[in-house]
Amino acid sequence: MKAAVYHGIRDVRVEEVATPQAGPGEVVVRVLRCAVCGTDKRVYVHGQKNVVPPAIVGHEIVGLVYELGEGVSGPPVGTRVIVATPVGCGDCICCRREQYNLCENFKALGYDYAGGFAEFMKVPARAVAQGNVIPIPEDLSPDAAALIEPLSCCLNGQEYLDPQPGDRALVFGAGPIGLMHAGILTAKGCRPVMVADISAERLEYVKDLGVGTPIHTTRDDTVAEILEAAGEEKFDVVVTACSVKAVQDCALRLARQKARISFFAGIPKDDPILPIDTNHLHYNEISVFGAFASNLRHYRQALEMVTRGDLPASKFVTHVFALDDIAEAYATIEAGRGIKIVVNCE
Ligand SMILES: [Zn+2]
Ligand SMILES: [Zn+2]
Repeated sequence: MKAAVYHGIRDVRVEEVATPQAGPGEVVVRVLRCAVCGTDKRVYVHGQKNVVPPAIVGHEIVGLVYELGEGVSGPPVGTRVIVATPVGCGDCICCRREQYNLCENFKALGYDYAGGFAEFMKVPARAVAQGNVIPIPEDLSPDAAALIEPLSCCLNGQEYLDPQPGDRALVFGAGPIGLMHAGILTAKGCRPVMVADISAERLEYVKDLGVGTPIHTTRDDTVAEILEAAGEEKFDVVVTACSVKAVQDCALRLARQKARISFFAGIPKDDPILPIDTNHLHYNEISVFGAFASNLRHYRQALEMVTRGDLPASKFVTHVFALDDIAEAYATIEAGRGIKIVVNCE
């Protein structure tokens, strides 16, 4: 089969490799689409310790069930599916609670296991048993279905925030993930939904998608600038969807009484300590949450949202490249262009 093989930093080659076969408990999927994630870009540019070359990455996977290994009862061959990324060990306390994304021995498809930038991929037995092969409606476009994985991660983060109609919401970052958060908050009836970014170009997408009000932050005093744009009212729900520590501080300052904040994006590991005015949290009953990847129920919720059309899915997919042209897909995401960049592996 054809696959995009990661050989090291900035070295991905489309090659012929052995087509995977389903062993006991395993499923082989014919990949239709695999979207490019911000973390794929990170692996491409910086490498990552759980991606050992030669490797096939890609974890935002849509495909057809192609082969069922011994002992696997379904979904039947030919079923259109998405494949969930996290693979829990099955033994640790998190796995016993079905919190596979928080498994103490966490592994992931497209990182530790071969992923979706290929014509076929094998889903390991552990992932099959866990329920990672999730059927989707036959008539759902594969491009739209490629949004389900990143959307599921956003839904995991927002589960803690419990956004309500009429909540004032603020998202930092107009990248693909920030725009998805804004789309969900808009769909849930938050008003206003404001999206702050330093890039005027990226903020154009906020308008194109109709997912909120863009705020172009240009000054040093970001908090004052956002408050000005927001009529001097703070926010009930704040999401940081950019890897900048200063933004986490802004989020805390812009949180009103009973606000819920998601530190959705991680920040550079060499400088993660942030001084916090804990009295601000205490007296105002403010909550701060983390989020990492997603769990199976978030995939199911994301599937429902995409199927219902809660988000303008077709507008989110701005670029589709053939597997042969994966280098262009990486160049596009590295240049910060587009929203979701999808690789067509058919
Ligand atoms: Zn992703
Ligand atoms: Zn585990």
